[in-house]
Amino acid sequence: MPLAIADTYTYSIPDSIACLEVGTRVLVPLGKKTITGIVYRIHCENPDETISPDIRLRDIIEVLDEQPIVLPSQLSLWRWLADYYLCTIGEVMAAALPARLIDNDYTARTEVYISLHPRFTDVEQLQPVFDSLKRAPKQQRLLEYFLELSDAFDGAPHIVEQRQLIEHSGESTAVLRTLIEKQILVASHEVVSRIPSYDADIEPAHPLTDQQQRAVDEIRAGFAEQKVCLLHGVTSSGKTEVYIHLIREMLAQGKQVLYLVPEIALTTQLTDRLKKVFGKQLGVYHSRFSDMERVEIYKDLLNSTEPKVILSARSGVFLPFRNLGLVIVDEEHDSSFKQQDPAPRYHARSVAVVMAKAANASVLLGTATPAIESYYNAQTGKYRLVEMSERYAGLSLPRIGLVDLKRQYHRKEMFEHFADPLVERINKQLTEGKQIIIFQNRRGYAPYIGCKRCGYVPKCCNCDVSLTYHKRTNTLVCHYCGYTVSAPQSCPNCQGEWRDFGVGTEKIEDEVTGLFPEARVARMDLDTTRNKNSHQRIINAFARHEVDILIGTQMVTKGLHFNDVSLVAVLNADSMMQSPDFRSSERAFQMLEQVAGRAGRTGSQGEVIIQTFQPDNPLYAYLQKHDYKSFYTAQLGERKTFRFPPFYRLVVLTLKHRDYTRLDTAARELSERLRKVFGNRCSDVIIPPIARVQNMHLRTIRLRIEANASFAQAKAILMQHVRYVQTLPNCKGTVIQPDVDPM
Ligand code: ADP
Ligand code: ZN
Repeated sequence: MPLAIADTYTYSIPDSIACLEVGTRVLVPLGKKTITGIVYRIHCENPDETISPDIRLRDIIEVLDEQPIVLPSQLSLWRWLADYYLCTIGEVMAAALPARLIDNDYTARTEVYISLHPRFTDVEQLQPVFDSLKRAPKQQRLLEYFLELSDAFDGAPHIVEQRQLIEHSGESTAVLRTLIEKQILVASHEVVSRIPSYDADIEPAHPLTDQQQRAVDEIRAGFAEQKVCLLHGVTSSGKTEVYIHLIREMLAQGKQVLYLVPEIALTTQLTDRLKKVFGKQLGVYHSRFSDMERVEIYKDLLNSTEPKVILSARSGVFLPFRNLGLVIVDEEHDSSFKQQDPAPRYHARSVAVVMAKAANASVLLGTATPAIESYYNAQTGKYRLVEMSERYAGLSLPRIGLVDLKRQYHRKEMFEHFADPLVERINKQLTEGKQIIIFQNRRGYAPYIGCKRCGYVPKCCNCDVSLTYHKRTNTLVCHYCGYTVSAPQSCPNCQGEWRDFGVGTEKIEDEVTGLFPEARVARMDLDTTRNKNSHQRIINAFARHEVDILIGTQMVTKGLHFNDVSLVAVLNADSMMQSPDFRSSERAFQMLEQVAGRAGRTGSQGEVIIQTFQPDNPLYAYLQKHDYKSFYTAQLGERKTFRFPPFYRLVVLTLKHRDYTRLDTAARELSERLRKVFGNRCSDVIIPPIARVQNMHLRTIRLRIEANASFAQAKAILMQHVRYVQTLPNCKGTVIQPDVDPM
């Protein structure tokens, strides 16, 4: 059942149920409720030895499916996920199945079609009908439109969608109803698919370059050795082309392919490219689709072994593939492959490797900036490393220049947040008709505001964070829980004036409009992309060069391809490196290299300007040389010294409670117990930088286990203590969430 309380439940099968299969949905009683569950196992065992044999189990109420809707391979994957990520199989189920499939309230979409009444067999017979309609011009006109649209008696389509007919004729449905009552037209309901169909012409894939061909050959060789392949290809080396060729081969062998991308990269840029090559064999599984559409893609796969390629964000690993040949994880370093909340807190890359192994399928990871863990696996021979070091068409990688903000501010050679040399470069590019991307990794206008007189800073009432000022909506917003209030005119304490601190994308937009009044400017961040198609609209406008300068958060870094972008500016790179997280350097490197990769993808060489207060940070030297390997080596040294992945595996426990005292007791109790078992592998109680979110106080405890020790055993011991502490009276109600392999 899609629940977090216990793993599985046992019910008896009443005589009224003649046939039951694993993987079918059933209705069962739970307390006073009726719940939908999936049959996980059919057996004759007493579920609990302590239950005496004469206690009767409760009966299954009803079987909902004739055929299983979950395949055995999916159930074993669910089992693996629940065990590895320390959650219940029900939580996995809730994440894995489209909600409508669980609730059983999926309905097929039907359309109404209109056709001519069968009593008419040739055109002549319609003449008396038209005569009879002389006094009813509306009905006459509707019938004329129908004949025009349907080509009745002439060629193929004799039926017309009701909607189309009404739209074209401009007549009402009442008029149509009269014609149906007079037995001139008939209406019929037909089931139609919600999945958009692609009718565009199929184009052949591009021929591969030598470098790409070599990569394809090496990947094939790696697959033959049953190894996961890591394709490390610089930005714009044509990794997508390599994927396309491998996918085509798989489809030709009658196999299915899962193509995973970060959510944000599911733009029409990529889907259009794939549609052209794969046509109807392409399916897109998208969280922006309605749940009904997702059920249809799910059912389609469930009922067929036809060759298909499914493009999806991380949840694609839960689809019912019957004939999987290949899983591609594009931009494999991207942290959006990891689900943070709720459980299962899984990483789609790890799940992909497990699911592919079970299906005897191959796995290809691709990126310009591999995750340290993945590259380590390649270096140690666990994965096969395949490299493409040249950009397509002989283009060079962008030139990366640094601007020392300390010096600029000192010499007063700044305009607001733009150093003079940057302003100069932007002006030059604009005169040459080029496009510019400006990267600022904070949304809103100012991260916080404070009173000029008394220093008061508005904070969220649910979380320990300051509220971010949004000028466009004149609101103060909590970026943790979404709490929003309209911004007060002045300080509520002393009526003093506000001053804003820090800078977000909105403020940058204002500065850009002031600095470059002629330029057409757009902004892409969470706030401008809330509507269904707004993200797409901004990208399309920029791709068509209707916008000169695009300002954005990390959304602009991912997998986009624009022809005329010659300059990428990073306004303040330091904030990315300041977080205490052990991954902050890795993330900063990846993000900067990726955002730089948007520059100069056709024609002239691209240029990147990074503004920073620490131009001596060694990370920039690696970046300027596009030297991933040296960056990796340096990082690996740090990871070893400070006992982090890939040398250690981590579990972070987050403890939550409304009651501060109980939380504190539980955290200390748990950490003390764990330290007795695990010694210094277990941390003390950690107070997170933001110690209260949505009225829940937070504490964390971190456990690290040597990579060569038994992780499963360590996790089992860990969970025993977690469960024990949750039963202690003075810790009651503490929520404890394990996060395995945290990002
Ligand atoms: P990456 O994914 O490595 O960043 P892409 O696959 O997006 O690179 O390729 C970058 C650009 O080069 C795209 O516009 C793509 O169409 C073009 N390209 C790459 N390889 C070829 C090829 N073999 N033939 C034609 N165009 C190519
Ligand atoms: Zn909040």
